[in-house]
Amino acid sequence: MNPFDLSGKTALVTGANTGIGQGIAIGLAKAGANIVAVGRTPADQTQKCIETTGSRCVQIQADLSSTAGLDNMVSDAEAELGPIDILVNNAGTIKRNDALAFTEEDWDTVMDLNLKTLFFLSQCVAKRMVAQSRPGKIINIASMLSFQGGIRVASYTASKSGVAGLTKLLANEWATKRICVNAIAPGYIATNNTAALQADEKRNQEIVGRIPAGRWGQPEDLSGAAVFLASGASDYVHGTVLAVDGGWLAR
Ligand code: NAP
Repeated sequence: MNPFDLSGKTALVTGANTGIGQGIAIGLAKAGANIVAVGRTPADQTQKCIETTGSRCVQIQADLSSTAGLDNMVSDAEAELGPIDILVNNAGTIKRNDALAFTEEDWDTVMDLNLKTLFFLSQCVAKRMVAQSRPGKIINIASMLSFQGGIRVASYTASKSGVAGLTKLLANEWATKRICVNAIAPGYIATNNTAALQADEKRNQEIVGRIPAGRWGQPEDLSGAAVFLASGASDYVHGTVLAVDGGWLAR
């Protein structure tokens, strides 16, 4: 038996229309999982790619900036594709400003999506896994700023450091319930989120020069780690934050 096989599993991936979420959703589908693509923008391109793998994909439109409606959203997902086996908390956002000028609005926007929704969606899915006596996998998308301080991104650093902490807390509480909670910490990945950095010649050179692999990551670079953490191959892995960063943290 292939320990990485996800046939018959259902994965809910937030922010699956683009970037890292899209790369992970397609990677899980290639490993056999059916995908619930959740987000505020239609994920038609993702759905098309998934369907060419032979897996199923359903889309659920949801704005995850608040926790209202999470329970209904998971009910809808389960009605379409059956119980959720794998949750990928990927949707995230970033706001940049000096700490001296950082606004409460930019604090709340980032913390609400990146941390609060991540926690309550995990809780919602885990409650169902426990009630159904089913094992599960939860994968949170962390960041280099789960380890480092960054600059001019106060709420992002707070949220992603929080993601690393919550990943460990949830792993501790849910390991005996056969729910593995882990995180992936992407390095510098070429997505919409980092388009401005890629376009800035000076910053781009500095970044690439510091990455041992010598290049930006692509969304598909995350899929191997995601398949591992979603599959039986990682059944004894709890609370880890796995860097997929071209060596950035080792530098
Ligand atoms: P991206 O291309 O900007 O994708 C972000 C995703 O989150 C999009 O699907 C976006 O949907 C969704 N989203 C944002 N606000 C939302 C909301 N209120 N409700 C529902 N969905 C919402 O960025 P990305 O780089 O792929 O980022 C994905 C995750 O990886 C984030 O958690 C990010 O912090 C993390 N990350 C990225 C990098 C990197 O270098 N790119 C590095 C470390 C961590 P829309 O398309 O509708 O905006």
